[in-house]
Amino acid sequence: MKTGYLIDMDGVIYRENHLIPGAAEFIQALQSTGTPFLFLTNNSAPTPADLAVRLKHMGVEDLSAQHFYTSALNTADFLNETDPNSTVFVIGEGGLLAALHERKIASDSIDPRYVVVGEGATTMERLTKAHECIERGARLLVTNPDNWCPVSSEKTRPGAGATTAYLEASTGRRPYYLGKPNSYMFQRARRKLADWTLNEITNFVMIGDTMETDIRGAFEVGMHSYLVLTGSTQIQDVADYVYQPTRILQSVADLTDEIKTGKVSDRRNSPAFTKQTTSVGKSGRRHQTDTFALHKPRPRLRPAMTK
Ligand SMILES: [Mg+2]
Repeated sequence: MKTGYLIDMDGVIYRENHLIPGAAEFIQALQSTGTPFLFLTNNSAPTPADLAVRLKHMGVEDLSAQHFYTSALNTADFLNETDPNSTVFVIGEGGLLAALHERKIASDSIDPRYVVVGEGATTMERLTKAHECIERGARLLVTNPDNWCPVSSEKTRPGAGATTAYLEASTGRRPYYLGKPNSYMFQRARRKLADWTLNEITNFVMIGDTMETDIRGAFEVGMHSYLVLTGSTQIQDVADYVYQPTRILQSVADLTDEIKTGKVSDRRNSPAFTKQTTSVGKSGRRHQTDTFALHKPRPRLRPAMTK
């Protein structure tokens, strides 16, 4: 059984500009064993080549643009597949503009079929133009549903979902969100990885740190999902969700040996959890989630990360 991995980046491989301990060795193990993998990100601002350079600066060599699938590429794939002669007015950055250009989706600031919103800064002038296009009949398509995105452990920035909320309020037009957790993002990423490896993969796994996007999307498309605790999810919050990850790991470092030996562990969770004891006088847990079924309300310090 050949396993292919779809891997989220922020909170899984790095946080801010620092690699998560063990992430470099994990990627090295994937590369040295020829294990298929693809990084999957909702950030539509950078191009795949930008992301490869970013990881190189953090010390991860030998990655090419082919190793990345962004929500910008997903949006370009969506338009290319569903409406290849469409025209767009874009609020977004280089990664989105380049992806649309590559798919030959033309730009039109007068009467486009779609207003496409992505991550990044905009101006009141562009928002006004987008508003006018929507009033004239353009549909509202968004690369990802993130209202805010982490910048550091203490800082966030507004995301594409927040920009879209402005246009939704001003026009009344309902948006359609691509990117995780939309199944189309997972389907296209899975297809890209399958094509790349000539359909050798029989088992797809999503590794991510966010329940609402990585774990939900994987569940809805029928893939295994591994939650890592190096990013946005605290273990005590996991039980609040109706969908659950297949495994919970402290970090991607927990997978390095498994990938090197080629033996998928029958252990469902991180070694860090094996010392926990149960109170039922019987070894093992009845369900993977039992240990984490803590009825603690999720903190509501800020609104949900996604729509
Ligand atoms: Mg993440």
